[in-house]
Amino acid sequence: MQTLALQWAAFTGEGLRGLGVEILRNRNPLRRPPSILFYKYSRKCRFLYFGCNAVCLLPENLPANSLTRPKTGVNSYDWGKVGQESAAARYAATTAAPDFKVEDDKPYAELWMGTHPSLPSKDVETQRSLLDLVQDNQALLSTEISERYGSRLPFLFKVLSVRKALSIQAHPNKKLAEQLHARDPRNYPDDNHKPEMTIAVTPFEGLCGFRPLAEITHFLQAIQPLRTLVGTQAASDFEQAVKGNEDSEDSSVETACKELVALAKSSPDSFGTLPSEVETNPTNPGELAEIIGRLDQQFPNDIGSFVFFFLNFVKLEPGEAMFLKADDIHAYVSGDIIECMASSDNVVRAGFTPKFKDVDTLTKMLTYSYAPIEEQKLRPTDYPYTILNATAYSSASESMLYDPPIEEFSVVKTDLKRTGAKATFDPIEGPSVIICTRGNGTITVGSKTEEVREGYVFFVGATAECIIQNTGSGEGEDDVFTTFKAFCELDGKEDLTNGN
Ligand SMILES: [Zn+2]
Repeated sequence: MQTLALQWAAFTGEGLRGLGVEILRNRNPLRRPPSILFYKYSRKCRFLYFGCNAVCLLPENLPANSLTRPKTGVNSYDWGKVGQESAAARYAATTAAPDFKVEDDKPYAELWMGTHPSLPSKDVETQRSLLDLVQDNQALLSTEISERYGSRLPFLFKVLSVRKALSIQAHPNKKLAEQLHARDPRNYPDDNHKPEMTIAVTPFEGLCGFRPLAEITHFLQAIQPLRTLVGTQAASDFEQAVKGNEDSEDSSVETACKELVALAKSSPDSFGTLPSEVETNPTNPGELAEIIGRLDQQFPNDIGSFVFFFLNFVKLEPGEAMFLKADDIHAYVSGDIIECMASSDNVVRAGFTPKFKDVDTLTKMLTYSYAPIEEQKLRPTDYPYTILNATAYSSASESMLYDPPIEEFSVVKTDLKRTGAKATFDPIEGPSVIICTRGNGTITVGSKTEEVREGYVFFVGATAECIIQNTGSGEGEDDVFTTFKAFCELDGKEDLTNGN
C-alpha cells in the first residue's frame, strides 16, 4: 500500500503531507485521472477510494456517542436580539423542551455549545450532559486531549446575537486568570485564559484593540467634548482618565456625553473630522456620528461612548473573522456571530454594562499596543482535509479554515452550495462541535445519519470520519447549506500569543 501510495503521490504531483498523516488526493476532479485515489490516515490505511466511491477496507471502530446531538442552552441578557430576530433563540428552539417558546419581547443573547459547567449541553436523546459523556468515554476527546484538558472540551463554542453593545472588556491571560480566580472566584469563575475568535454570520460591528496613535490624536483634536474630558494630556495618559471617571454618575462624564451627542447630531457629516485633516478619520463621519448617538441611547452618559475614540471600529461581513488574544480590549456592538474561545467565562469589564466592573484590573492588564484593524482580522484559508464530491466542486462549494495561533480550537466553515453537494471531513485526533447556520442537509458518522437544519448542533467524537451533505431544495442562495465546525487537535501548534 505504501508503495502504491507513493507512486500515486508522484503521479498526481500532490506529494505526501507530513510524515505521520499522509493524505493523498487530487482536490480538483477536472485534473483527476479517472482511476484510484488512495487515502491513508494516522499511520494506518483505512480507506480506498475508487473514483468518487469510497470502499472501506477496515471496519470502523468508533466509540458510542461518536455522533451526538446536544440540546443547547440560551442566555437571556439585555444586550441580546429580541424574539425571532435572535439567531441564538431560533437555534436554541430546535432542541428546546416542548414548553419552551421564543417570546416576542424577550432578549436572547448567547447560545452555548460545550461542556462548560455554567451552561452545559445535554444529549437530546438521553438528557445526559456532554460533560458526562466525554468523561465516561475519554476516547471521544482522544487520550491526549483528555489528559491535557482534564476530560473536558478545550473550547467553548457560542452563537451571539447582539442588539446592543456588550461591555468593553478584555480577557485575562492564564497567569492573571489564576490570580483573579484565587482572589475573587465569584466574579472570576475560571482559572483559565480566554482567547476568543469571532466569525460574522450577519454584518457585524464591534470595537477591537486600540486605534493607531495618529487616529487618537486626531480625535483628541477634532472632538471638543473628548478634549475637555481627557484634558490636554497625551493619549497615552488615557489610562488615568478612565480610572478617574469610571463612575457614570460623575457629572463631568455626563456633561461630556451630552456635548458629544449634541455635536454628533448637529454636524454628522463632519463629525470627528478636522477641516485640515479630514483624511485621518478612518471611518465615514456620518456613520461615526450615528454610532455615537446609538451608543448613548443604549447607555446614556456612559464613559464607554468616549472609549470609542480610542478603539478600532471594525465591521465584519458574513464569513469575516477577528481573533482576540488574551488582554486585547474589545466590545461587540451589533450582529449575529459565531464565537469560539478557550473554555472559560472570565471577563474583565469597564463600560457599557450593568455587570461587575473591574476597571482597575482592566487598565492594569491591557497592553497598550496600537494597531490598525486589518491586523486584528483573521483571514481564513482553504481547509485541505475535506474531500468534496463532484457536485460540491462544480457549485464552488468550499471549506475554509479559521486557525488562530492557539491550540485549544480552530473552526472550519463549510458552504455546500447545491443539493447533493457533499463534504467528507478526514478523521481528526480530537473532538468537534458542528452547528448549521443555513440550509438543510444530513450528517453521517459511522453508520449513523441524522437530519440537519438551521440551528442544529452535533458533537463528533475523535477519530470519526464525518460526512455532511446538502439536501435542500431551494435555488441559488436559498440552497446553500452552511456549517461551522469547531475542533481541537493537538498537532504541536504552539501557543504563541498567550504567554504560556
Ligand atoms: Zn470577549
